Amino acid sequence: MTELHGYIVHPYADEFPMIKGDEFADLVASISDHGLHEPIVLSHDGQMLIDGRNRLRACYEARVDPRFINLDRHQSEVNYIDDHNLRRRNLTSSQRAAMAVVRLPYAEAEARQKMISGKPNPEAPVPQGQGERGPQARDQAAAAVGVSGRLVGQAKRVAENDPELFEKIKSGEVTCKEAEREVKRANKTKAQPAADPPPKPTPVTVNLIRPDGTTVPYPKAKVVKFNQTKGDGISWAGWSWNPVTGCEHDCDYCYARDIALNPRFADAYPVGFDPIFHPQRLDAPVNTKIGEGTGGRVFVCSMADLFGRWVPDEWIDRVLRACEAAPEWTYIFLTKFPNRYEGLTFPPNAWVGTSVDTQRRADLVGHSMSKVEASVRWLSIEPLLEPVEFDDLSMYEWVVIGAQTANGATPAFAPYLEWVADIVHMARRDGCKVHLKPNLRSAPGMVMPDEYP
Ligand code: SF4
Repeated sequence: MTELHGYIVHPYADEFPMIKGDEFADLVASISDHGLHEPIVLSHDGQMLIDGRNRLRACYEARVDPRFINLDRHQSEVNYIDDHNLRRRNLTSSQRAAMAVVRLPYAEAEARQKMISGKPNPEAPVPQGQGERGPQARDQAAAAVGVSGRLVGQAKRVAENDPELFEKIKSGEVTCKEAEREVKRANKTKAQPAADPPPKPTPVTVNLIRPDGTTVPYPKAKVVKFNQTKGDGISWAGWSWNPVTGCEHDCDYCYARDIALNPRFADAYPVGFDPIFHPQRLDAPVNTKIGEGTGGRVFVCSMADLFGRWVPDEWIDRVLRACEAAPEWTYIFLTKFPNRYEGLTFPPNAWVGTSVDTQRRADLVGHSMSKVEASVRWLSIEPLLEPVEFDDLSMYEWVVIGAQTANGATPAFAPYLEWVADIVHMARRDGCKVHLKPNLRSAPGMVMPDEYP
C-alpha cells in the first residue's frame, strides 16, 4: 500500500502512473501561480486518496495548502477513478482492456462491501448474487473502460499466462492481439503429452499465536522478509517489520487499526487488530539483505505496540533475540507504554523510543524513559495535537515530529508551525537530532530537518 503525504492511496488509483518531468513541473507552476482549482478527492470515509495524487504532490512542492473533498457516498470509488484517469489519459484500446483486468478485483471488492453493508451501489459493476469473475463481470468492466468484452478477455488470458507480457500491454508496447498470439505460441512449445494432472498442492499454513496461547492458521510465506516502506508514512525508516500485530491502546487517530480492519486486507489480518504473534516472521532479519533497499533502519511493529501490557514477555524476548541474530540492521522500537521497557536489555543497534501527542503524555513518559538503557533514546511526537513543552530533552538523541493523518475516525490535522518550531528549538537546546515528517505544514523556504543520530 502506498502512502502519500500521510494519505493512503487507493490501490486501484495507484495502478496509474504518476506524471513526471516537464508535465509535473508545469502542474507545480500552475498551482503556484493560480492556486489549486480542482480539489483532491478522498474516499467516502475520508481514509483513502481517490484522485489527485499529482495535485497533492504539486501542492507540497508549490507550498500551497491542498483542498480536499470526500467522494459522495452514492458514487462508486472505482468508477470515479476510471472517470478521472482512464478517460483523462490518451490510452489505446489494448491499454484500456488491460486496465479493465486490473480493476476487476477492486470493483468486486467494492460490490462485496456494498452487499455486506446492505447498501447495493447502482454503479457497482458486480450485481448482488452474481459470480464474481464470470463473463458478466468482465463485460461490465469492459463497458466501464469503453472497450469490448472480447478484448478484455484477451488481456485477461495474457495476464493469467504471462504477467510480464501483460505489463507490456499496460505500457502500450504490445497490443492484446499480439500478446495473446505470443502466449499461444509459448504454450504450444510447452505442451506436454497428455498426462494425469499433478495433484493440487495443499496450502501450507503456520500458526499465529494469541496472548492466551490459542492459535490461528495463516498461509505460510515462501520467504519472510522486511517490508520496504513506501510513501511518507514512515519517512524515517526504509523498512518495517511486524512480528506482532494489533494493539489495545485504542487511539482515535490510529492508522494501523484502519488498515487491519479494512475488508480489503482481511486475509493479511485474520484477527483484525487483536494482538497476535507471527513467529515465522522472526526469520525476516536474517532473510533480508541490507543492500536490497534504502538504508538499514527498520521500524519494528509499525502495526502494533510491542510493549503493550497485553504482550507476553516471551514475544518481546523472541523479537529481541531475532534482532541480535542480524546485527547489521538498526532496529527502531516505539511504544506508548515505556514502563514496559524496564528490565529489558536491548541490543546495541536498537533505538528505543516513546510516543507523545499531548502535554499530559509528555509529562508521563520522562521517568520511564530516563531508566532505559539503549544506544539511542528517541521521542516520536506524532501526531502533535497541542503545544507541548519539555524542560529537558537531553536524555533523547533524536526527536521526530509529525502531523495526524486522516482515518475513519479523525480528519487530517497538521499542527501550527509555532508549536513545531518551539519543540525544534528545545531539541536544539538539548543537543537532539531532529526529523520533521513531510506531512507537517511548512512555510515557503523553510528547511525541514532530516537528521539522524
Ligand atoms: S498505540 Fe499506536 S498502534 Fe496502538 S492504537 Fe495507538 S496509534 Fe494505534
